Amino acid sequence: MLTFPSGCSLARSMKSSQRISHLTGGGSDGWDVFYRARRMKAAGQPVIELTIGEHDIRTAPDILAAMDAAARAGHTGYASVPGTDALRKAVATRIATRTGVATGPENILITPGGQAGLFAAAMATLDPGDRALFVDPYYVTYPGTLRAAGGVPVPVAARPEHAFQPQAADLAVVAPDARVLLVNSPNNPTGAVYDAATLADIAGVVTDHDLWLISDEVYDTQVWEGEHLSPRALPGMADRTLVVGSMSKSHAMTGSRIGWVCGPEEIIVEMINLATHTTYGVPGYIQDAATFALGQGETPEEAVAAPFRRRRAITARLVAGQNVVRAAPMQGAMYAMLDIRATGLSGEGFANALLDAERVAVMPGESFGAAAAGHVRVALTVDDAAFEDALGRLLRFAAARAGAVSPA
Ligand code: PMP
Repeated sequence: MLTFPSGCSLARSMKSSQRISHLTGGGSDGWDVFYRARRMKAAGQPVIELTIGEHDIRTAPDILAAMDAAARAGHTGYASVPGTDALRKAVATRIATRTGVATGPENILITPGGQAGLFAAAMATLDPGDRALFVDPYYVTYPGTLRAAGGVPVPVAARPEHAFQPQAADLAVVAPDARVLLVNSPNNPTGAVYDAATLADIAGVVTDHDLWLISDEVYDTQVWEGEHLSPRALPGMADRTLVVGSMSKSHAMTGSRIGWVCGPEEIIVEMINLATHTTYGVPGYIQDAATFALGQGETPEEAVAAPFRRRRAITARLVAGQNVVRAAPMQGAMYAMLDIRATGLSGEGFANALLDAERVAVMPGESFGAAAAGHVRVALTVDDAAFEDALGRLLRFAAARAGAVSPA
Protein backbone atom coordinates (compact mmCIF):
# COMPACT_ATOMS: atom_id res chain seq x y z
CA MET A 1 0.00 0.00 0.00
CA LEU A 2 1.31 3.45 -0.85
CA THR A 3 1.42 6.01 1.90
CA PHE A 4 1.80 9.70 1.30
CA PRO A 5 3.25 12.09 3.87
CA SER A 6 0.42 14.48 3.05
CA GLY A 7 -2.24 11.93 2.22
CA CYS A 8 -5.08 14.04 3.57
CA SER A 9 -4.33 17.07 1.47
CA LEU A 10 -4.03 14.83 -1.58
CA ALA A 11 -7.52 13.49 -0.85
CA ARG A 12 -8.85 17.03 -0.43
CA SER A 13 -7.47 18.03 -3.82
CA MET A 14 -9.58 15.39 -5.53
CA LYS A 15 -12.82 16.82 -6.90
CA SER A 16 -15.99 14.93 -7.59
CA SER A 17 -17.72 15.55 -10.91
CA GLN A 18 -20.06 18.51 -11.26
CA ARG A 19 -22.72 16.08 -12.39
CA ILE A 20 -22.76 14.44 -8.99
CA SER A 21 -21.94 17.41 -6.78
CA HIS A 22 -24.76 19.46 -8.38
CA LEU A 23 -27.27 16.63 -8.41
CA THR A 24 -29.56 17.90 -5.68
CA GLY A 25 -29.28 21.63 -6.23
CA GLY A 26 -28.23 22.26 -2.58
CA GLY A 27 -29.90 24.38 0.07
CA SER A 28 -32.47 23.53 2.73
CA ASP A 29 -35.27 21.52 1.16
CA GLY A 30 -37.77 21.32 4.01
CA TRP A 31 -36.72 17.79 4.96
CA ASP A 32 -35.24 18.97 8.29
CA VAL A 33 -38.49 18.22 10.07
CA PHE A 34 -38.37 14.65 8.79
CA TYR A 35 -34.85 14.06 10.11
CA ARG A 36 -35.74 15.78 13.40
CA ALA A 37 -38.75 13.46 13.82
CA ARG A 38 -36.50 10.46 13.18
CA ARG A 39 -34.03 11.67 15.83
CA MET A 40 -36.82 12.25 18.37
CA LYS A 41 -38.18 8.76 17.72
CA ALA A 42 -34.72 7.22 18.06
CA ALA A 43 -34.42 9.02 21.41
CA GLY A 44 -37.56 7.22 22.59
CA GLN A 45 -40.19 9.93 22.08
CA PRO A 46 -43.65 8.73 20.94
CA VAL A 47 -43.68 10.44 17.55
CA ILE A 48 -46.37 9.43 15.03
CA GLU A 49 -44.76 9.64 11.59
CA LEU A 50 -46.99 10.58 8.67
CA THR A 51 -44.04 11.44 6.48
CA ILE A 52 -42.76 9.08 3.78
CA GLY A 53 -44.68 6.86 1.37
CA GLU A 54 -44.08 3.48 2.94
CA HIS A 55 -46.93 1.07 3.75
CA ASP A 56 -47.55 -0.10 7.31
CA ILE A 57 -47.99 -3.62 5.92
CA ARG A 58 -45.26 -5.81 4.43
CA THR A 59 -45.08 -7.84 1.21
CA ALA A 60 -47.73 -10.62 1.21
CA PRO A 61 -46.56 -14.07 2.37
CA ASP A 62 -47.48 -15.78 -0.93
CA ILE A 63 -45.25 -13.35 -2.86
CA LEU A 64 -42.43 -14.05 -0.39
CA ALA A 65 -43.00 -17.79 -0.84
CA ALA A 66 -42.66 -17.37 -4.62
CA MET A 67 -39.44 -15.42 -4.07
CA ASP A 68 -38.07 -18.10 -1.75
CA ALA A 69 -39.02 -20.93 -4.13
CA ALA A 70 -37.37 -19.15 -7.08
CA ALA A 71 -34.16 -18.54 -5.13
CA ARG A 72 -34.03 -22.14 -3.89
CA ALA A 73 -34.67 -23.39 -7.43
CA GLY A 74 -31.45 -21.62 -8.41
CA HIS A 75 -32.61 -18.29 -9.89
CA THR A 76 -29.80 -16.52 -8.05
CA GLY A 77 -27.36 -16.01 -10.92
CA TYR A 78 -27.27 -13.11 -13.36
CA ALA A 79 -30.75 -12.62 -14.72
CA SER A 80 -31.57 -11.47 -18.23
CA VAL A 81 -30.75 -7.74 -18.33
CA PRO A 82 -34.00 -6.51 -20.00
CA GLY A 83 -36.01 -8.66 -17.60
CA THR A 84 -37.15 -12.27 -17.79
CA ASP A 85 -39.39 -13.14 -20.72
CA ALA A 86 -42.16 -14.11 -18.29
CA LEU A 87 -42.12 -10.81 -16.39
CA ARG A 88 -41.83 -8.62 -19.49
CA LYS A 89 -44.81 -10.49 -20.87
CA ALA A 90 -46.80 -10.17 -17.61
CA VAL A 91 -46.17 -6.42 -17.45
CA ALA A 92 -47.04 -5.96 -21.14
CA THR A 93 -50.29 -7.89 -20.66
CA ARG A 94 -51.19 -5.85 -17.57
CA ILE A 95 -50.64 -2.60 -19.49
CA ALA A 96 -52.44 -3.78 -22.64
CA THR A 97 -55.44 -4.99 -20.63
CA ARG A 98 -55.75 -1.85 -18.54
CA THR A 99 -55.11 0.73 -21.24
CA GLY A 100 -56.22 -0.94 -24.46
CA VAL A 101 -52.90 -0.06 -26.12
CA ALA A 102 -51.18 -2.92 -27.97
CA THR A 103 -48.11 -3.68 -25.83
CA GLY A 104 -45.65 -6.57 -26.11
CA PRO A 105 -42.59 -7.69 -24.11
CA GLU A 106 -40.43 -5.76 -26.57
CA ASN A 107 -41.97 -2.55 -25.19
CA ILE A 108 -40.89 -3.33 -21.61
CA LEU A 109 -37.63 -2.88 -19.70
CA ILE A 110 -37.64 -4.28 -16.17
CA THR A 111 -35.82 -1.96 -13.75
CA PRO A 112 -34.81 -2.00 -10.08
CA GLY A 113 -37.84 0.08 -9.01
CA GLY A 114 -39.60 3.01 -10.58
CA GLN A 115 -36.73 5.30 -9.61
CA ALA A 116 -34.28 3.44 -11.87
CA GLY A 117 -37.00 3.59 -14.54
CA LEU A 118 -37.23 7.38 -14.17
CA PHE A 119 -33.45 7.65 -14.44
CA ALA A 120 -33.34 5.44 -17.53
CA ALA A 121 -36.17 7.43 -19.14
CA ALA A 122 -34.36 10.72 -18.46
CA MET A 123 -31.08 9.33 -19.83
CA ALA A 124 -32.86 8.08 -22.94
CA THR A 125 -34.56 11.36 -23.82
CA LEU A 126 -32.30 14.22 -22.68
CA ASP A 127 -29.08 15.58 -24.12
CA PRO A 128 -26.88 17.84 -21.98
CA GLY A 129 -28.51 21.25 -21.61
CA ASP A 130 -31.97 20.14 -22.74
CA ARG A 131 -34.84 21.62 -20.75
CA ALA A 132 -37.02 19.11 -18.96
CA LEU A 133 -40.40 20.29 -17.68
CA PHE A 134 -41.87 18.78 -14.53
CA VAL A 135 -44.97 19.64 -12.56
CA ASP A 136 -44.56 21.40 -9.20
CA PRO A 137 -45.48 20.11 -6.53
CA TYR A 138 -43.29 17.15 -7.42
CA TYR A 139 -41.86 13.90 -6.17
CA VAL A 140 -38.62 14.77 -4.47
CA THR A 141 -36.17 13.01 -6.85
CA TYR A 142 -37.45 14.59 -10.07
CA PRO A 143 -35.11 17.59 -10.42
CA GLY A 144 -32.04 15.54 -9.43
CA THR A 145 -32.94 12.72 -11.80
CA LEU A 146 -33.36 15.13 -14.72
CA ARG A 147 -30.12 16.89 -13.78
CA ALA A 148 -28.24 13.59 -13.54
CA ALA A 149 -29.11 12.98 -17.18
CA GLY A 150 -27.71 16.42 -18.10
CA GLY A 151 -31.12 18.07 -18.33
CA VAL A 152 -32.12 21.47 -16.99
CA PRO A 153 -35.18 20.92 -14.78
CA VAL A 154 -37.93 23.53 -15.28
CA PRO A 155 -40.87 23.47 -12.82
CA VAL A 156 -44.38 24.22 -14.06
CA ALA A 157 -46.71 25.13 -11.19
CA ALA A 158 -49.97 23.23 -10.66
CA ARG A 159 -51.83 25.40 -8.20
CA PRO A 160 -54.20 24.62 -5.31
CA GLU A 161 -56.92 26.75 -6.96
CA HIS A 162 -56.83 24.32 -9.90
CA ALA A 163 -56.96 21.29 -7.58
CA PHE A 164 -53.26 20.79 -8.46
CA GLN A 165 -54.08 19.89 -12.09
CA PRO A 166 -51.51 21.45 -14.47
CA GLN A 167 -52.94 23.99 -16.88
CA ALA A 168 -52.40 23.98 -20.65
CA ALA A 169 -51.63 27.70 -20.70
CA ASP A 170 -48.81 27.30 -18.15
CA LEU A 171 -47.31 24.34 -20.02
CA ALA A 172 -47.52 26.18 -23.34
CA VAL A 173 -45.34 29.03 -22.01
CA VAL A 174 -42.34 26.78 -21.36
CA ALA A 175 -42.90 23.98 -23.87
CA PRO A 176 -41.34 25.64 -26.97
CA ASP A 177 -37.79 25.36 -25.59
CA ALA A 178 -38.19 21.97 -23.93
CA ARG A 179 -37.39 18.39 -24.87
CA VAL A 180 -39.25 16.44 -22.18
CA LEU A 181 -42.31 16.76 -19.95
CA LEU A 182 -42.45 14.59 -16.83
CA VAL A 183 -45.89 14.10 -15.22
CA ASN A 184 -47.20 11.95 -12.38
CA SER A 185 -50.79 10.84 -11.88
CA PRO A 186 -52.03 9.69 -9.39
CA ASN A 187 -49.82 12.36 -7.89
CA ASN A 188 -47.35 12.36 -5.08
CA PRO A 189 -47.53 14.66 -3.12
CA THR A 190 -50.90 16.23 -3.95
CA GLY A 191 -53.23 13.21 -4.33
CA ALA A 192 -54.53 14.64 -7.62
CA VAL A 193 -55.61 12.21 -10.35
CA TYR A 194 -55.40 13.97 -13.71
CA ASP A 195 -58.75 14.09 -15.44
CA ALA A 196 -59.40 13.52 -19.13
CA ALA A 197 -59.25 17.26 -19.88
CA THR A 198 -55.85 17.68 -18.19
CA LEU A 199 -54.46 14.66 -20.02
CA ALA A 200 -55.80 15.93 -23.35
CA ASP A 201 -54.05 19.26 -22.64
CA ILE A 202 -50.81 17.45 -21.81
CA ALA A 203 -51.02 15.36 -24.98
CA GLY A 204 -51.76 18.51 -27.01
CA VAL A 205 -48.74 20.38 -25.63
CA VAL A 206 -46.26 17.53 -26.09
CA THR A 207 -47.53 16.86 -29.62
CA ASP A 208 -47.51 20.54 -30.65
CA HIS A 209 -43.97 21.03 -29.37
CA ASP A 210 -42.63 17.58 -30.23
CA LEU A 211 -41.68 16.64 -26.67
CA TRP A 212 -41.13 13.29 -25.03
CA LEU A 213 -43.62 12.55 -22.28
CA ILE A 214 -42.42 10.63 -19.23
CA SER A 215 -45.51 9.44 -17.36
CA ASP A 216 -44.86 8.24 -13.82
CA GLU A 217 -47.77 5.93 -13.01
CA VAL A 218 -46.42 4.15 -9.93
CA TYR A 219 -49.65 4.86 -8.00
CA ASP A 220 -51.96 3.53 -10.71
CA THR A 221 -53.67 1.07 -8.32
CA GLN A 222 -54.50 3.71 -5.70
CA VAL A 223 -57.38 5.72 -7.12
CA TRP A 224 -60.19 6.85 -4.83
CA GLU A 225 -62.09 9.19 -7.14
CA GLY A 226 -62.35 9.20 -10.94
CA GLU A 227 -60.19 6.70 -12.80
CA HIS A 228 -56.56 6.30 -13.72
CA LEU A 229 -56.02 7.22 -17.36
CA SER A 230 -52.65 6.61 -18.96
CA PRO A 231 -51.69 9.38 -21.42
CA ARG A 232 -49.96 6.70 -23.56
CA ALA A 233 -53.46 5.59 -24.57
CA LEU A 234 -54.33 8.94 -26.19
CA PRO A 235 -54.15 9.18 -30.00
CA GLY A 236 -50.56 9.43 -31.28
CA MET A 237 -49.04 9.29 -27.79
CA ALA A 238 -47.66 5.73 -27.69
CA ASP A 239 -44.75 6.79 -29.96
CA ARG A 240 -43.61 9.60 -27.67
CA THR A 241 -44.46 8.34 -24.18
CA LEU A 242 -42.37 6.42 -21.68
CA VAL A 243 -44.49 5.05 -18.84
CA VAL A 244 -42.75 4.33 -15.54
CA GLY A 245 -44.36 1.65 -13.38
CA SER A 246 -43.46 -0.11 -10.16
CA MET A 247 -44.59 -2.82 -7.76
CA SER A 248 -43.42 -0.79 -4.75
CA LYS A 249 -46.78 0.85 -4.09
CA SER A 250 -49.17 -1.62 -5.75
CA HIS A 251 -47.83 -4.75 -4.00
CA ALA A 252 -46.06 -3.30 -0.94
CA MET A 253 -42.73 -4.37 -2.49
CA THR A 254 -40.75 -1.17 -1.86
CA GLY A 255 -37.65 -3.04 -0.68
CA SER A 256 -37.64 -5.54 -3.54
CA ARG A 257 -36.79 -2.78 -6.03
CA ILE A 258 -38.86 -3.88 -8.98
CA GLY A 259 -40.41 -1.68 -11.66
CA TRP A 260 -40.41 -1.05 -15.38
CA VAL A 261 -40.42 1.37 -18.27
CA CYS A 262 -42.86 0.87 -21.13
CA GLY A 263 -42.26 2.60 -24.46
CA PRO A 264 -41.52 2.29 -28.19
CA GLU A 265 -39.35 -0.74 -28.94
CA GLU A 266 -36.50 1.29 -30.52
CA ILE A 267 -35.88 3.34 -27.37
CA ILE A 268 -36.39 0.32 -25.08
CA VAL A 269 -33.53 -1.39 -26.99
CA GLU A 270 -31.30 1.60 -26.23
CA MET A 271 -32.38 1.59 -22.59
CA ILE A 272 -31.45 -2.10 -22.34
CA ASN A 273 -27.98 -1.00 -23.42
CA LEU A 274 -28.00 1.56 -20.58
CA ALA A 275 -29.12 -1.14 -18.13
CA THR A 276 -26.18 -3.32 -19.22
CA HIS A 277 -23.89 -0.47 -18.21
CA THR A 278 -25.61 0.48 -14.94
CA THR A 279 -27.83 -1.95 -13.05
CA TYR A 280 -27.18 -5.14 -15.03
CA GLY A 281 -30.76 -6.12 -14.39
CA VAL A 282 -32.87 -7.12 -11.42
CA PRO A 283 -32.37 -10.32 -9.34
CA GLY A 284 -34.12 -13.28 -10.97
CA TYR A 285 -35.89 -14.44 -7.80
CA ILE A 286 -37.39 -10.96 -7.35
CA GLN A 287 -38.58 -11.00 -10.97
CA ASP A 288 -40.14 -14.44 -10.46
CA ALA A 289 -41.96 -13.20 -7.35
CA ALA A 290 -43.18 -10.18 -9.34
CA THR A 291 -44.40 -12.44 -12.15
CA PHE A 292 -46.28 -14.51 -9.58
CA ALA A 293 -47.79 -11.37 -8.01
CA LEU A 294 -48.95 -9.93 -11.33
CA GLY A 295 -50.51 -13.30 -12.13
CA GLN A 296 -52.85 -12.81 -9.15
CA GLY A 297 -54.56 -9.90 -10.90
CA GLU A 298 -56.21 -7.00 -9.11
CA THR A 299 -57.25 -8.70 -5.85
CA PRO A 300 -53.91 -8.33 -4.04
CA GLU A 301 -53.59 -4.78 -5.38
CA GLU A 302 -56.96 -3.92 -3.86
CA ALA A 303 -55.92 -5.48 -0.55
CA VAL A 304 -52.78 -3.31 -0.46
CA ALA A 305 -54.78 -0.19 -1.38
CA ALA A 306 -57.63 -0.81 1.11
CA PRO A 307 -55.98 0.71 4.24
CA PHE A 308 -55.28 3.95 2.36
CA ARG A 309 -58.87 4.06 1.14
CA ARG A 310 -60.08 3.76 4.75
CA ARG A 311 -57.73 6.47 6.04
CA ARG A 312 -58.71 8.76 3.21
CA ALA A 313 -62.32 8.37 4.44
CA ILE A 314 -61.18 9.16 8.02
CA THR A 315 -59.43 12.27 6.70
CA ALA A 316 -62.52 13.40 4.77
CA ARG A 317 -64.72 12.91 7.87
CA LEU A 318 -62.42 14.76 10.30
CA VAL A 319 -61.68 17.62 7.89
CA ALA A 320 -65.43 18.07 7.25
CA GLY A 321 -65.95 18.57 11.00
CA GLN A 322 -63.91 21.80 11.19
CA ASN A 323 -63.29 24.87 9.08
CA VAL A 324 -59.64 25.82 9.48
CA VAL A 325 -57.79 23.18 7.48
CA ARG A 326 -58.90 22.36 3.93
CA ALA A 327 -58.00 19.18 2.11
CA ALA A 328 -57.07 19.22 -1.58
CA PRO A 329 -59.24 16.70 -3.47
CA MET A 330 -58.01 13.30 -2.26
CA GLN A 331 -58.36 11.45 -5.55
CA GLY A 332 -55.49 8.98 -5.35
CA ALA A 333 -52.13 7.88 -3.89
CA MET A 334 -51.32 7.43 -0.21
CA TYR A 335 -51.30 11.09 0.83
CA ALA A 336 -53.56 13.97 1.80
CA MET A 337 -52.41 17.50 0.98
CA LEU A 338 -53.79 19.85 3.62
CA ASP A 339 -54.04 23.61 3.20
CA ILE A 340 -53.04 25.16 6.55
CA ARG A 341 -52.79 28.78 5.37
CA ALA A 342 -55.58 29.84 7.77
CA THR A 343 -53.15 29.25 10.65
CA GLY A 344 -50.88 32.02 9.36
CA LEU A 345 -47.95 29.59 9.30
CA SER A 346 -45.88 28.29 6.40
CA GLY A 347 -45.98 24.55 5.77
CA GLU A 348 -42.52 24.28 7.29
CA GLY A 349 -43.43 26.41 10.33
CA PHE A 350 -46.59 24.38 10.87
CA ALA A 351 -44.84 21.00 10.54
CA ASN A 352 -42.11 22.02 12.99
CA ALA A 353 -44.52 23.48 15.54
CA LEU A 354 -46.84 20.46 15.25
CA LEU A 355 -43.94 18.09 15.85
CA ASP A 356 -42.91 19.98 18.98
CA ALA A 357 -46.41 20.42 20.37
CA GLU A 358 -48.11 17.15 19.41
CA ARG A 359 -45.32 14.72 18.42
CA VAL A 360 -46.97 14.30 15.02
CA ALA A 361 -44.63 14.45 12.01
CA VAL A 362 -45.90 15.58 8.59
CA MET A 363 -44.04 16.88 5.53
CA PRO A 364 -44.01 20.63 4.78
CA GLY A 365 -45.57 21.33 1.39
CA GLU A 366 -42.52 23.46 0.54
CA SER A 367 -40.35 20.33 0.44
CA PHE A 368 -42.26 19.36 -2.73
CA GLY A 369 -41.95 22.73 -4.46
CA ALA A 370 -43.15 26.32 -4.23
CA ALA A 371 -46.66 25.48 -5.48
CA ALA A 372 -47.37 23.53 -2.27
CA ALA A 373 -46.38 26.38 0.07
CA GLY A 374 -48.78 26.80 2.99
CA HIS A 375 -49.67 23.11 2.86
CA VAL A 376 -48.55 19.97 4.62
CA ARG A 377 -48.55 16.47 3.18
CA VAL A 378 -49.96 13.78 5.44
CA ALA A 379 -49.03 10.19 4.56
CA LEU A 380 -51.87 7.73 5.24
CA THR A 381 -49.36 5.19 6.48
CA VAL A 382 -50.09 4.29 10.11
CA ASP A 383 -52.88 2.07 11.46
CA ASP A 384 -56.37 3.55 11.45
CA ALA A 385 -56.62 4.31 15.19
CA ALA A 386 -53.20 5.99 15.37
CA PHE A 387 -53.98 7.84 12.15
CA GLU A 388 -57.28 9.20 13.46
CA ASP A 389 -55.62 10.23 16.71
CA ALA A 390 -52.76 12.00 14.89
CA LEU A 391 -55.02 13.78 12.44
CA GLY A 392 -57.33 14.86 15.27
CA ARG A 393 -54.34 16.37 17.04
CA LEU A 394 -53.23 18.12 13.86
CA LEU A 395 -56.67 19.67 13.35
CA ARG A 396 -56.98 20.81 17.00
CA PHE A 397 -53.49 22.28 16.80
CA ALA A 398 -54.44 24.13 13.61
CA ALA A 399 -57.64 25.44 15.21
CA ALA A 400 -55.69 26.77 18.19
CA ARG A 401 -53.16 28.46 15.90
CA ALA A 402 -55.87 29.95 13.72
CA GLY A 403 -57.58 31.26 16.86
CA ALA A 404 -54.31 32.93 17.81
CA VAL A 405 -54.13 34.58 14.37
CA SER A 406 -57.71 35.73 14.23
CA PRO A 407 -59.59 36.05 17.54
CA ALA A 408 -62.87 36.31 15.60
N1 PMP B 1 -42.45 8.06 -8.40
C1 PMP B 1 -43.15 8.52 -7.36
C2 PMP B 1 -44.17 9.58 -7.61
C3 PMP B 1 -42.91 8.03 -6.07
O1 PMP B 1 -43.63 8.51 -5.04
C4 PMP B 1 -41.92 7.04 -5.88
C5 PMP B 1 -41.60 6.48 -4.51
N2 PMP B 1 -42.01 7.14 -3.42
C6 PMP B 1 -41.23 6.59 -7.00
C7 PMP B 1 -41.51 7.11 -8.25
C8 PMP B 1 -40.15 5.55 -6.92
O2 PMP B 1 -40.63 4.37 -6.40
P1 PMP B 1 -39.84 3.01 -6.50
O3 PMP B 1 -38.45 3.30 -6.97
O4 PMP B 1 -39.86 2.43 -5.12
O5 PMP B 1 -40.60 2.20 -7.47
